[in-house]
Amino acid sequence: MKRIKNFSLRVKLTISLLLVAIFPLLLLSKLFFIGSEDALRKITLAQLSMSAEYKVGEIHLFLETLKTNTTDFSSDGFIKNELIKITNKLSSAQHLNDHLRQNKLPTKSNLMFIDVVNTQGLIIASTLASRIGKDLSEKLYYQKGLSQSYVAKFIHYPNLQLLGAVASPIISNDKTQLTLGVLVNHYRMNKIQDLFSGELLHSLGAKSEHRILSAGESIYMLTIEGRGITTSEKSLIDNQHSFNFDTHPIKQARQFNKESQGIWKNHLSKSVLGVSIIAEIDGLKFILLAEQEIEQAFQLINTLKQQFYLLLIFTVMVIIILSSLLSYFIVKPLKKVIDSLDIIASGEFDIDIKQISQHDELENLVNKFNNMAKNLKEMKNVSDHKNKQLLELSIRDHLTGLFNHRHLIEHGDIRVLEANRNGMMLGLLMIDIDHFKRVNDRYGHPCGDYVITEIALLLKGNLRSIDILARYGGEEFAVIMPNTTIVKAKIVADKICKKIQEHKFNYEQEQFEITVSIGIAIQQKSENKIMEIIKRADQALYQSKNNGRNQVSVDLPISRETHLCH
Ligand code: GH3
Ligand code: MG
Ligand code: MG
Repeated sequence: MKRIKNFSLRVKLTISLLLVAIFPLLLLSKLFFIGSEDALRKITLAQLSMSAEYKVGEIHLFLETLKTNTTDFSSDGFIKNELIKITNKLSSAQHLNDHLRQNKLPTKSNLMFIDVVNTQGLIIASTLASRIGKDLSEKLYYQKGLSQSYVAKFIHYPNLQLLGAVASPIISNDKTQLTLGVLVNHYRMNKIQDLFSGELLHSLGAKSEHRILSAGESIYMLTIEGRGITTSEKSLIDNQHSFNFDTHPIKQARQFNKESQGIWKNHLSKSVLGVSIIAEIDGLKFILLAEQEIEQAFQLINTLKQQFYLLLIFTVMVIIILSSLLSYFIVKPLKKVIDSLDIIASGEFDIDIKQISQHDELENLVNKFNNMAKNLKEMKNVSDHKNKQLLELSIRDHLTGLFNHRHLIEHGDIRVLEANRNGMMLGLLMIDIDHFKRVNDRYGHPCGDYVITEIALLLKGNLRSIDILARYGGEEFAVIMPNTTIVKAKIVADKICKKIQEHKFNYEQEQFEITVSIGIAIQQKSENKIMEIIKRADQALYQSKNNGRNQVSVDLPISRETHLCH
């Protein structure tokens, strides 16, 4: 399970598809083939059975025809009369023998010879002179022939000529209906072989549809002991040897008088599908065996199986192509989203996954992802802006909008270090409003605020853009002037001092003037902190206050120089 988890989506997809498609296909095919084999077996067995039954019918018909012929011939009035005469010793057998030889007999070609046997079982007349006098009283066909037409068992002559005898009673025509003797016709039964091709039936004039044997199908006629009488297998007939079977159906027939149906090994040890029928005509018992080679019988199934395996290979290939396509449609957009997630994780929201032309959930996912990225980008912009505002607020004084004390110190320290590095020293002004308390006291606190704001504006208007102006405290301001000498700083300070002194402050119909005191310090090489310079500028400012206000003082390393602003 853990292993499967590690497989890629494509492999998982292929496995699932194979399981979903191949497994049921195999299962279905298994059931289908079992069912088909069963059905085909049943059909083949039915066909074989039909073949055998049909042949039994044909043999019956043939033998009945022979019996009828013999019976007709035994009703011959001349034979009857002569027989009576011979029995009563009124005549010799000569007339009868002549009569037999002269008669044109039906199915002549099959008829080998005719015997007339008296009631004692002795041949008294025959178409074959040598047979006269032979004792047939022990023969079953003679005994049976006394009362009915009877077919004797088939006998093979050494040259495989099959011989059979048909005996019929010769019955007197008078009221007594006595049996006068037996007429025995000896037929050449090899003609039975013709039955297996259906020819004889046609030549006998019987109307019958001859069933052509299918490929691999053979029919045998055997005695109950398994001795071959005839067969549709030409090779067995042609090699002029009698054949004997001891296969499963023969054993079943011999031992249990049982007919068989199913699969067994034939006389050549080949697997066959077969049917055996035990047929009995008069006393003659024989087996009709119809067999078909398994390979031939199931050829259809084998062809189907081959086609199925081809189909299976084709299905597997289709599945592999299908899973590749599916993974292309699923994995590709997903990979895009995953890659973009990495970019988002790195804090970059400027993403827009190219629209995929699939109208499905994945397109929806990509769209939603793009929307999310867009929203995140907007949120980031808002938050950036807010942060900027907060940062701005954190470094600004809310009343004047100038930099606040904290920013002055932090930023000042950086500028001090920078100045030290490049050797261009900073100038610093500390500016304090004179007697500001009085403004508050006299005009109110809001007016004080107005004054602070107004002075901030005045200061801003008189400084360079590179100068950093901050509200240092309540009514105190500081200016960092990069790259400034004492002289330059003094000039600026004086200018400021003068501008403020000359400015008319108007607040609610009141007009008044304000002055400021300024302290100047220029950065020394040894100074790395802004506070060090501020302290000195503060001292200079203190000096300006002490000296009467509205003036500028410079903190020099050795002495402090003060002067009134002009
Ligand atoms: P000096 O000339 O010695 O500087 O005298 P001064 O009155 O200006 O100085 P002092 O330090 O005695 O008073 C400063 C006053 O400024 C005290 C405080 O109430 C007022 N003040 C500080 N911040 C503000 C402010 O934001 N608004 C207003 N209206 N007044 C403020
Ligand atoms: Mg003050
Ligand atoms: Mg003051």
